[in-house]
Amino acid sequence: MKQTRKMDARKRIALIAHDNKKEELLEWSSYNKDALASHILLATGTTGKLIEDTLSLPVHRMQSGPLGGDLQIGAMIASGTVDIVIFFWDPMESQPHDPDIKALLRIAAVWNVPMACDRATADFLMSSPLMEQDYEAQLPDYTQYLKRKVGAR
Ligand code: PGA
Repeated sequence: MKQTRKMDARKRIALIAHDNKKEELLEWSSYNKDALASHILLATGTTGKLIEDTLSLPVHRMQSGPLGGDLQIGAMIASGTVDIVIFFWDPMESQPHDPDIKALLRIAAVWNVPMACDRATADFLMSSPLMEQDYEAQLPDYTQYLKRKVGAR
């Protein structure tokens, strides 16, 4: 039987923006403030502070991205405690924590977690009726992978 991950109507949304993308995320978040207010928000350190100050909404803040914040959010995805990721990463500039960014993008794909990496995708995601409903996301089946034979046994 397929395994699923249950999401409540009240979603846990992770917000992250690289420095050149912070203004865009703030604009987008302000526009979507009412919708965001009905969910649980978490963010990397600096992004979270800016959103808290601008929107006056509570945000669970992780470390700043380059200090491990992306990895903290990635770990939450792996343990099933993040439902949605809005990640405005900067495609025009490399970052000191590029390996962490790759890890975050990868782990979201591993666990079938919806992730918007630009404003248009974030608009489509936020306007989905599923944002306000319970939802069961199918989990990929890794049983065969976990049963694989490794080493000389
Ligand atoms: P920041 O981190 O919100 O602390 O700036 C974002 C990032 O660069 O991953």
